Amino acid sequence: MKGIIKQISQINFGLMSPDDIRKMSVTKIETPDTYDEDGYPIENGLMDPHLGVIDPSLRCRACGAKGGECQGHFGSIDLARPVIHVGFGDTIHKILRSTCNSCGRILLTDTEIEDYRAKIDALKKNDESINDIVKEIYVTARRDKCPHCDEEQEDIKIDKPISIIEGDYKLTPSEVREKLEKNH
Ligand SMILES: [Zn+2]
Ligand SMILES: [Zn+2]
Repeated sequence: MKGIIKQISQINFGLMSPDDIRKMSVTKIETPDTYDEDGYPIENGLMDPHLGVIDPSLRCRACGAKGGECQGHFGSIDLARPVIHVGFGDTIHKILRSTCNSCGRILLTDTEIEDYRAKIDALKKNDESINDIVKEIYVTARRDKCPHCDEEQEDIKIDKPISIIEGDYKLTPSEVREKLEKNH
């Protein structure tokens, strides 16, 4: 195989939508099985031949290359229930803790909002990091009562890695999503 040399100027990391993942996926994985009794990869299993093959006598069903020559392709699993993305547990927890459980607004007073907004604008203008100010906002916005609608706030905890607890109640991933959508 002959390599092609290219120069990469930048890489952006992000999340793909479920639709994009399904479009790029070469097969659906529906069973945790790998090989049948004769040693052949089971279709829609973890070693589905569309994903690429190891055995040099077999060909990849996605690109037609022989085992060892195909770089491999990814499949996808449709989850039976929603789950919280493990990479976002901490961020979701912080957002829920600093926003109102009833009206969905950030738990800062109008004056604080104005102050922080001015500080953030200034930092951005000078190309400086806003990380410290965001940390400060998370601390200030941890209130027992909403400054906008007066609603008392239950404490929101995270049970690592990704369970969100409100008071004594463990929220389902769908409930977490509903809460996040209410924020503005
Ligand atoms: Zn292939
Ligand atoms: Zn409120």
